[in-house]
Amino acid sequence: MDSDEEFVVAFEKKVFDTVKNFNLVEKGDRVVVACSGGKDSTLVLYLLNKFFGGVVALAVDEGIKGYRDKSINDLKIFCDEQGIELRVYSFAEEFGKSLDKVLDGSVNPCTVCGTIRRQILNKYAVDFDKIATGHNMDDESQAVLMNLFKSNVDLLWNSGPISGKVEGFVQRIKPLYFCLERDVVRYVKLKGFKVCLIKSCPYRVTAFRKQVRELLDDYELSNVGVKKNILEKHLSLLKNVNLKKRTFGYCSVCGGPSLGKLCKACQFIKSFK
Ligand SMILES: [Zn+2]
Repeated sequence: MDSDEEFVVAFEKKVFDTVKNFNLVEKGDRVVVACSGGKDSTLVLYLLNKFFGGVVALAVDEGIKGYRDKSINDLKIFCDEQGIELRVYSFAEEFGKSLDKVLDGSVNPCTVCGTIRRQILNKYAVDFDKIATGHNMDDESQAVLMNLFKSNVDLLWNSGPISGKVEGFVQRIKPLYFCLERDVVRYVKLKGFKVCLIKSCPYRVTAFRKQVRELLDDYELSNVGVKKNILEKHLSLLKNVNLKKRTFGYCSVCGGPSLGKLCKACQFIKSFK
Protein backbone atom coordinates (compact mmCIF):
# COMPACT_ATOMS: atom_id res chain seq x y z
CA MET A 1 0.00 0.00 0.00
CA ASP A 2 1.35 3.43 -0.92
CA SER A 3 1.55 6.19 1.69
CA ASP A 4 -1.26 8.75 1.83
CA GLU A 5 0.98 11.46 0.36
CA GLU A 6 2.03 9.21 -2.53
CA PHE A 7 -1.57 8.22 -3.12
CA VAL A 8 -2.75 11.86 -3.37
CA VAL A 9 0.00 12.74 -5.85
CA ALA A 10 -0.64 9.63 -7.98
CA PHE A 11 -4.41 10.19 -7.95
CA GLU A 12 -4.13 13.81 -9.07
CA LYS A 13 -1.68 12.79 -11.80
CA LYS A 14 -4.10 10.15 -13.06
CA VAL A 15 -6.91 12.72 -13.37
CA PHE A 16 -4.61 15.28 -14.96
CA ASP A 17 -3.33 12.69 -17.47
CA THR A 18 -6.91 11.75 -18.41
CA VAL A 19 -7.72 15.42 -19.02
CA LYS A 20 -4.58 15.84 -21.12
CA ASN A 21 -4.58 12.57 -23.07
CA PHE A 22 -8.23 12.87 -24.11
CA ASN A 23 -8.19 16.67 -24.62
CA LEU A 24 -10.98 17.09 -22.11
CA VAL A 25 -10.06 20.71 -21.49
CA GLU A 26 -8.40 22.80 -24.17
CA LYS A 27 -6.78 26.19 -23.90
CA GLY A 28 -9.37 28.92 -23.31
CA ASP A 29 -12.19 26.48 -22.55
CA ARG A 30 -14.82 27.71 -20.11
CA VAL A 31 -15.67 24.75 -17.90
CA VAL A 32 -18.74 24.21 -15.76
CA VAL A 33 -19.04 21.25 -13.37
CA ALA A 34 -22.42 19.59 -12.91
CA CYS A 35 -22.45 19.29 -9.12
CA SER A 36 -24.66 17.32 -6.77
CA GLY A 37 -22.78 17.93 -3.54
CA GLY A 38 -21.72 14.27 -3.61
CA LYS A 39 -18.14 13.03 -3.47
CA ASP A 40 -17.48 12.52 -7.19
CA SER A 41 -18.66 15.83 -8.63
CA THR A 42 -17.20 17.79 -5.70
CA LEU A 43 -13.84 16.14 -6.36
CA VAL A 44 -14.02 16.98 -10.07
CA LEU A 45 -14.84 20.58 -9.14
CA TYR A 46 -11.91 20.75 -6.75
CA LEU A 47 -9.37 19.25 -9.14
CA LEU A 48 -10.38 21.10 -12.32
CA ASN A 49 -10.33 24.35 -10.36
CA LYS A 50 -6.93 23.43 -8.95
CA PHE A 51 -5.55 22.58 -12.42
CA PHE A 52 -7.11 25.38 -14.47
CA GLY A 53 -8.85 27.91 -12.18
CA GLY A 54 -12.03 29.81 -13.04
CA VAL A 55 -14.28 26.75 -13.02
CA VAL A 56 -17.98 27.34 -12.22
CA ALA A 57 -20.20 24.92 -10.27
CA LEU A 58 -23.73 24.34 -11.51
CA ALA A 59 -26.25 22.46 -9.38
CA VAL A 60 -29.80 21.38 -10.04
CA ASP A 61 -32.12 21.25 -7.04
CA GLU A 62 -34.76 18.67 -7.94
CA GLY A 63 -36.57 19.26 -4.67
CA ILE A 64 -35.95 15.97 -2.88
CA LYS A 65 -36.59 16.78 0.74
CA GLY A 66 -34.03 15.60 3.26
CA TYR A 67 -31.57 14.67 0.52
CA ARG A 68 -30.80 17.29 -2.11
CA ASP A 69 -31.33 20.30 0.19
CA LYS A 70 -28.67 18.75 2.44
CA SER A 71 -26.16 18.01 -0.30
CA ILE A 72 -26.60 21.45 -1.90
CA ASN A 73 -25.93 23.02 1.46
CA ASP A 74 -22.68 21.02 1.70
CA LEU A 75 -21.82 22.23 -1.79
CA LYS A 76 -22.46 25.88 -0.87
CA ILE A 77 -20.09 25.61 2.08
CA PHE A 78 -17.46 23.89 -0.10
CA CYS A 79 -17.69 26.51 -2.87
CA ASP A 80 -17.46 29.32 -0.30
CA GLU A 81 -14.33 27.81 1.19
CA GLN A 82 -12.73 27.28 -2.20
CA GLY A 83 -13.82 30.60 -3.69
CA ILE A 84 -15.73 28.89 -6.52
CA GLU A 85 -18.82 30.44 -8.11
CA LEU A 86 -21.94 28.31 -7.58
CA ARG A 87 -25.16 28.61 -9.60
CA VAL A 88 -28.21 26.67 -8.43
CA TYR A 89 -31.31 26.06 -10.56
CA SER A 90 -34.39 24.28 -9.29
CA PHE A 91 -37.17 22.19 -10.78
CA ALA A 92 -39.64 24.36 -8.83
CA GLU A 93 -38.43 27.58 -10.45
CA GLU A 94 -37.97 26.06 -13.89
CA PHE A 95 -41.39 24.50 -14.29
CA GLY A 96 -43.30 25.16 -11.09
CA LYS A 97 -43.04 21.80 -9.32
CA SER A 98 -40.44 19.88 -7.35
CA LEU A 99 -39.66 16.24 -8.13
CA ASP A 100 -41.38 15.21 -4.88
CA LYS A 101 -44.58 16.84 -6.16
CA VAL A 102 -44.68 15.33 -9.65
CA LEU A 103 -44.08 11.68 -8.84
CA ASP A 104 -47.24 9.63 -8.70
CA GLY A 105 -45.81 6.14 -9.11
CA SER A 106 -46.55 5.95 -12.83
CA VAL A 107 -43.07 6.90 -13.97
CA ASN A 108 -39.54 5.87 -13.02
CA PRO A 109 -38.21 8.74 -10.83
CA CYS A 110 -34.64 8.34 -12.14
CA THR A 111 -35.76 8.64 -15.76
CA VAL A 112 -37.84 11.77 -15.10
CA CYS A 113 -35.23 13.35 -12.89
CA GLY A 114 -32.30 12.53 -15.20
CA THR A 115 -34.08 13.82 -18.29
CA ILE A 116 -35.15 17.13 -16.73
CA ARG A 117 -31.78 17.61 -15.01
CA ARG A 118 -30.07 17.22 -18.40
CA GLN A 119 -32.37 19.80 -19.97
CA ILE A 120 -31.68 22.34 -17.21
CA LEU A 121 -27.93 21.69 -17.33
CA ASN A 122 -27.89 22.05 -21.08
CA LYS A 123 -29.86 25.30 -20.91
CA TYR A 124 -27.62 26.98 -18.36
CA ALA A 125 -24.32 25.55 -19.60
CA VAL A 126 -24.82 27.04 -23.04
CA ASP A 127 -22.20 29.75 -22.43
CA PHE A 128 -19.59 27.15 -21.55
CA ASP A 129 -17.43 24.90 -23.73
CA LYS A 130 -17.51 21.81 -21.52
CA ILE A 131 -19.71 20.30 -18.81
CA ALA A 132 -17.70 18.11 -16.44
CA THR A 133 -19.44 15.34 -14.53
CA GLY A 134 -18.36 13.09 -11.66
CA HIS A 135 -18.71 9.71 -13.40
CA ASN A 136 -15.97 7.38 -12.16
CA MET A 137 -14.54 4.08 -13.40
CA ASP A 138 -17.12 2.04 -11.47
CA ASP A 139 -20.07 4.00 -12.93
CA GLU A 140 -18.65 3.78 -16.43
CA SER A 141 -17.73 0.09 -16.44
CA GLN A 142 -21.21 -0.68 -15.05
CA ALA A 143 -22.74 1.42 -17.84
CA VAL A 144 -20.80 -0.45 -20.54
CA LEU A 145 -22.05 -3.79 -19.22
CA MET A 146 -25.61 -2.52 -18.79
CA ASN A 147 -25.69 -1.25 -22.36
CA LEU A 148 -24.27 -4.55 -23.54
CA PHE A 149 -26.78 -6.62 -21.56
CA LYS A 150 -29.64 -4.49 -22.88
CA SER A 151 -28.16 -4.15 -26.36
CA ASN A 152 -28.49 -0.40 -26.09
CA VAL A 153 -26.10 1.08 -28.66
CA ASP A 154 -27.92 4.40 -28.66
CA LEU A 155 -26.04 5.56 -25.58
CA LEU A 156 -22.61 4.91 -27.07
CA TRP A 157 -21.97 8.48 -28.14
CA ASN A 158 -21.80 9.61 -24.52
CA SER A 159 -19.80 6.69 -23.19
CA GLY A 160 -16.15 7.77 -23.40
CA PRO A 161 -14.22 10.33 -21.28
CA ILE A 162 -15.56 12.99 -23.69
CA SER A 163 -18.85 12.96 -25.57
CA GLY A 164 -19.11 13.36 -29.31
CA LYS A 165 -19.72 16.85 -30.67
CA VAL A 166 -23.40 17.32 -31.38
CA GLU A 167 -24.86 20.67 -32.29
CA GLY A 168 -27.04 22.03 -29.53
CA PHE A 169 -25.23 20.08 -26.79
CA VAL A 170 -22.33 21.27 -24.70
CA GLN A 171 -19.67 18.56 -24.73
CA ARG A 172 -19.59 16.35 -21.62
CA ILE A 173 -16.29 15.41 -20.00
CA LYS A 174 -15.55 12.82 -17.30
CA PRO A 175 -12.18 13.52 -15.63
CA LEU A 176 -12.63 10.59 -13.17
CA TYR A 177 -13.11 8.09 -16.01
CA PHE A 178 -10.10 6.02 -14.91
CA CYS A 179 -10.53 6.46 -11.15
CA LEU A 180 -11.93 3.65 -9.05
CA GLU A 181 -14.73 4.65 -6.68
CA ARG A 182 -12.79 3.39 -3.67
CA ASP A 183 -9.90 5.72 -4.60
CA VAL A 184 -12.33 8.65 -4.89
CA VAL A 185 -13.55 7.84 -1.38
CA ARG A 186 -9.98 7.60 -0.06
CA TYR A 187 -9.02 10.95 -1.64
CA VAL A 188 -11.98 12.95 -0.32
CA LYS A 189 -11.54 11.40 3.15
CA LEU A 190 -7.86 12.31 3.21
CA LYS A 191 -8.71 15.85 2.14
CA GLY A 192 -11.48 16.07 4.72
CA PHE A 193 -14.13 17.23 2.23
CA LYS A 194 -17.57 17.42 3.82
CA VAL A 195 -19.48 15.35 1.27
CA CYS A 196 -21.86 12.45 1.25
CA LEU A 197 -19.83 9.29 0.54
CA ILE A 198 -22.63 7.05 -0.65
CA LYS A 199 -25.12 7.45 -3.44
CA SER A 200 -28.16 7.73 -1.26
CA CYS A 201 -31.00 9.33 -3.22
CA PRO A 202 -34.25 8.09 -1.64
CA TYR A 203 -35.73 7.51 -5.11
CA ARG A 204 -32.92 5.25 -6.24
CA VAL A 205 -34.73 2.27 -7.71
CA THR A 206 -32.22 1.03 -10.25
CA ALA A 207 -32.22 -2.62 -9.29
CA PHE A 208 -30.54 -3.55 -12.55
CA ARG A 209 -27.56 -1.26 -11.90
CA LYS A 210 -27.29 -2.65 -8.38
CA GLN A 211 -27.05 -6.18 -9.79
CA VAL A 212 -24.40 -5.18 -12.30
CA ARG A 213 -22.46 -3.25 -9.66
CA GLU A 214 -22.39 -6.22 -7.28
CA LEU A 215 -21.41 -8.57 -10.06
CA LEU A 216 -18.53 -6.33 -11.14
CA ASP A 217 -17.34 -5.61 -7.59
CA ASP A 218 -17.27 -9.35 -6.89
CA TYR A 219 -15.44 -10.08 -10.08
CA GLU A 220 -12.90 -7.29 -9.49
CA LEU A 221 -11.98 -8.85 -6.12
CA SER A 222 -10.68 -12.00 -7.76
CA ASN A 223 -9.64 -10.39 -11.06
CA VAL A 224 -7.97 -7.11 -10.19
CA GLY A 225 -8.12 -4.65 -13.09
CA VAL A 226 -11.26 -5.97 -14.74
CA LYS A 227 -13.07 -2.60 -14.59
CA LYS A 228 -10.14 -0.92 -16.26
CA ASN A 229 -9.99 -3.68 -18.88
CA ILE A 230 -13.67 -3.22 -19.71
CA LEU A 231 -13.19 0.52 -20.30
CA GLU A 232 -10.00 0.10 -22.31
CA LYS A 233 -11.61 -2.52 -24.54
CA HIS A 234 -14.69 -0.31 -24.85
CA LEU A 235 -12.60 2.69 -25.92
CA SER A 236 -10.70 0.68 -28.51
CA LEU A 237 -14.02 -0.51 -29.97
CA LEU A 238 -15.46 3.03 -29.90
CA LYS A 239 -12.66 4.20 -32.19
CA ASN A 240 -14.25 2.21 -35.00
CA VAL A 241 -17.75 3.59 -34.50
CA ASN A 242 -18.75 6.67 -36.42
CA LEU A 243 -20.61 8.69 -33.84
CA LYS A 244 -20.65 11.95 -35.75
CA LYS A 245 -23.70 11.06 -37.81
CA ARG A 246 -26.17 11.61 -35.01
CA THR A 247 -28.41 14.54 -35.91
CA PHE A 248 -31.15 16.27 -34.00
CA GLY A 249 -34.02 18.59 -34.70
CA TYR A 250 -35.17 21.16 -32.18
CA CYS A 251 -37.92 20.95 -29.59
CA SER A 252 -40.90 23.17 -30.43
CA VAL A 253 -41.30 24.23 -26.78
CA CYS A 254 -37.86 24.72 -25.23
CA GLY A 255 -35.79 24.94 -28.42
CA GLY A 256 -33.35 22.35 -27.14
CA PRO A 257 -32.05 19.50 -29.29
CA SER A 258 -34.65 16.80 -29.74
CA LEU A 259 -35.31 13.65 -31.75
CA GLY A 260 -39.03 14.43 -31.99
CA LYS A 261 -41.21 17.55 -32.13
CA LEU A 262 -41.23 17.71 -28.35
CA CYS A 263 -38.11 16.76 -26.38
CA LYS A 264 -38.30 14.10 -23.67
CA ALA A 265 -38.01 16.66 -20.86
CA CYS A 266 -40.85 18.80 -22.24
CA GLN A 267 -42.98 15.66 -22.68
CA PHE A 268 -42.56 14.91 -18.97
CA ILE A 269 -43.19 18.51 -17.92
CA LYS A 270 -46.35 18.63 -20.05
CA SER A 271 -47.63 15.45 -18.40
CA PHE A 272 -47.23 17.01 -14.90
CA LYS A 273 -49.62 19.90 -15.56
ZN1 LIG B 1 -38.19 20.73 -25.01
